[in-house]
Amino acid sequence: MGNWDYSTFWTEAIKQIQSDFSKQSRDQEFKIWFSSIKYINSDELAVNISVPSNFYQAQIKQRGYDSIIQNKLKEISGQDIIVRFIVLPQTEQNTENSSKSSDEAHNTKTAAPENSDENHSSVVQIGIKNDAGHPQLRADYTFDSFVSGENAFAYNAAQAVAKNPGYAYNPLLIYGGVGLGKTHLMQAIGNLAYTESQSSNTKKNIIYITAETFTNEFIQSIHSSSQTKFKNKYRSADILLIDDIHFFQNKDGTQEELFHTFNALYDSFKQIVFTCDRPISELKNLTERLRSRFERGLNVDLQVPQYETRRAILEKKMSKKNIHISPEIIDIIAQNVSTNVRDLEASLTKIIAYTELTEKEVSVEKAQQLLRDIFNSPKTGNITIDDIQKTVANYYNISFSDIKSKKRSKNILFPRQIAMYIARQITEFSLTELGAEFGGKDHTTVMHSIEKIEETLQTDITLENTLQTLIRSIKEIKK
Ligand code: ADP
Ligand code: MG
Repeated sequence: MGNWDYSTFWTEAIKQIQSDFSKQSRDQEFKIWFSSIKYINSDELAVNISVPSNFYQAQIKQRGYDSIIQNKLKEISGQDIIVRFIVLPQTEQNTENSSKSSDEAHNTKTAAPENSDENHSSVVQIGIKNDAGHPQLRADYTFDSFVSGENAFAYNAAQAVAKNPGYAYNPLLIYGGVGLGKTHLMQAIGNLAYTESQSSNTKKNIIYITAETFTNEFIQSIHSSSQTKFKNKYRSADILLIDDIHFFQNKDGTQEELFHTFNALYDSFKQIVFTCDRPISELKNLTERLRSRFERGLNVDLQVPQYETRRAILEKKMSKKNIHISPEIIDIIAQNVSTNVRDLEASLTKIIAYTELTEKEVSVEKAQQLLRDIFNSPKTGNITIDDIQKTVANYYNISFSDIKSKKRSKNILFPRQIAMYIARQITEFSLTELGAEFGGKDHTTVMHSIEKIEETLQTDITLENTLQTLIRSIKEIKK
């Protein structure tokens, strides 16, 4: 087997993926899926990874986690490391370098040749995209898998755009809270337009990108003097899908570039779709001319689904996965999880994972126990920085205005760092937004404050308790 050892890259990759998920409030999802994936060993340019069941293996692929891992490993190591997922039931995991796991890994190297459809094999090897779908879009984010419910208007508008890009509504802006299906609907537009263009042989250049990646690529293009390439890339799109444009707040240079990209596309009847976590009127630090472009066309918002829709979503997810869970349990989830669809999915997944691993039906009591965390978490989306500042200031007996100020005396500095840390943990605000609310600091200062608390947490074992108490009281405000 040679001296290949990619365990360090693996550990780092998982750590970074966890942090990326956490920033998107997807901790629950990370816990469910990634905690059961274990490193086994490596061979030349490949790592062998164990997963506990076929269900897990299929989900990892379907949810695109395979590409996430692959890309992260490449980013960290600079090499195309192949990832092989090997199904090892829980009891056999952790038998590192056991002859079984390495044999299996070798066998499947020949059993699952690249580019073959390996669905029936127990090993999935990634590193080579062999799907026929659009490479940047998740294949399962389609109109068919989206339950329109309260959001029929947004759904119909998105479908109209996919069928008649550039001419139905341009731009289309989909906005709403976290986990309500913005990315899903946006990618459904891309998927449908892509399939239709393939079947009618009128190739369309469909680009999906998050605002964050767009910004990073733009900055990168300045550093590497490749701005023309950047401009050409986005101005040659037939359909440009930009996800999470709230990220553009405060990014003046990128806003300027986007403004010109927008005009070029709009003037030549190319379709533009945006998503945002709030209405445009609530975005801060956005140039007026860009704001007016965002507001042109059609703005649609996504509502939190009501009980009936929640049930319908759960049933749809089950039928897509070909899984059966008793109606009582489905009802418990639909009754209790009213925050967003992501939490709804996480609950269902938890139940499925439990059933898979134990091969037992879940009782109502067990379901309630498994889902306690999710049921008890309030709508973190509603928590404001003010709520956090007030609670923390109160706890440390300093004034609200002090915690928001620039003052650097120790008795104020520490609570302020705590408040920033908590805000980062339980809200979606960006570092820049937090900086603005804490005495006009820039994002590096906020990052530094958060790192300070992370460091302190390593040595001060009482701090974790304090943090939990504070977080609980902050969440209480919104109950
Ligand atoms: P957002 O981008 O608004 O944060 P996502 O599009 O990522 O939310 O949706 C979170 C999860 O919920 C995804 O897995 C998505 O498939 C699912 N989802 C959201 N809304 C619906 C819906 N109406 N029907 C089916 N699935 C949905
Ligand atoms: Mg999204």
